[in-house]
Amino acid sequence: GRESYLVGLIGSGVGPSLSPALHQREADRHGLRYLYRTIDIDPLGLGPDGVGRLVRAAAALGFDGLNITHPCKQAVIEHLDGLSEDAAQLGAVNTVVFEADGRAIGHNTDWSGFARSFARGLPDVPTGEVVLLGAGGAGAAVAHALLTVGADRLTLADTDQERAEALAEALAGRFGATRVRTVAPDGLPAAVGGADGLVHATPTGMAAHPGLPLPAELLRRDLWVAEVVYRPLRTALLTAARAAGCRTLDGGGMAVFQAADAFRLFTGREPDAERMLADLSDL
Ligand code: NAD
Repeated sequence: GRESYLVGLIGSGVGPSLSPALHQREADRHGLRYLYRTIDIDPLGLGPDGVGRLVRAAAALGFDGLNITHPCKQAVIEHLDGLSEDAAQLGAVNTVVFEADGRAIGHNTDWSGFARSFARGLPDVPTGEVVLLGAGGAGAAVAHALLTVGADRLTLADTDQERAEALAEALAGRFGATRVRTVAPDGLPAAVGGADGLVHATPTGMAAHPGLPLPAELLRRDLWVAEVVYRPLRTALLTAARAAGCRTLDGGGMAVFQAADAFRLFTGREPDAERMLADLSDL
């Protein structure tokens, strides 16, 4: 028979996720039997820590792997048998592979997904000074990616200043204190004014959080702008940035490349990310 795979996505409110379609369409093109099921903790009455029970249940039921999303990416770690080096550094797991020997190993493809999307969508933009807005889960992955691919200096801004400082401290430990700083909201104009690029990693621009995450006047032609929000693909920020003449990158690439990298971990097969990107635009 054909190779078959059973995988799932654990998190809160995962019902409308595009991941099942992205994975299954790519698997179809590889001639695989591949089922990707969402496992929502909310109707199960579970909190983030409930992810441990679900990971053990999935292993017992013969799942090949899992994606893990909000709010379980940190909570899952203590329930795993091992971590990739980058997942250990980030302290966040979005992909779990059940190895042939039964061990559950955690990986992180959010950061690699952003790195690949950035390299594809904004090749050879200057990365001397980059401002990152949002120091939550997505921001931590983006920061790791930018400092790994060679941004010289990163400035973190978050309305929750403590969150920005905690992330900056963790990054300074891994990448060096001279490469990371934080800025309070009132320092944002000066920081953006001196930056080559801006990455947006707050939920602003989603249906539930409409609007712009920073004043439109701060956008100028020689600033590139990368968005992490991908629902919708065209956010108010991207519209304003394009109107200002900025080079832009939408959040769809990160979503697709993290899925592609997870697909490779689950199946050992090389996904065609360009085909998956085309799928995203008609999902
Ligand atoms: P999170 O809640 O972990 O972090 C968001 C952070 O943004 C918080 O620290 C919050 O204080 C801060 N914030 C909110 N509004 C702000 C503002 N106006 N200015 C500065 N800081 C502000 O959320 P998350 O998991 O990091 O997700 C953020 C967004 O990224 C969501 O829209 C999510 O859908 C998206 N996301 C996309 C991908 C992808 O693959 N494209 C992956 C992960 C998350």
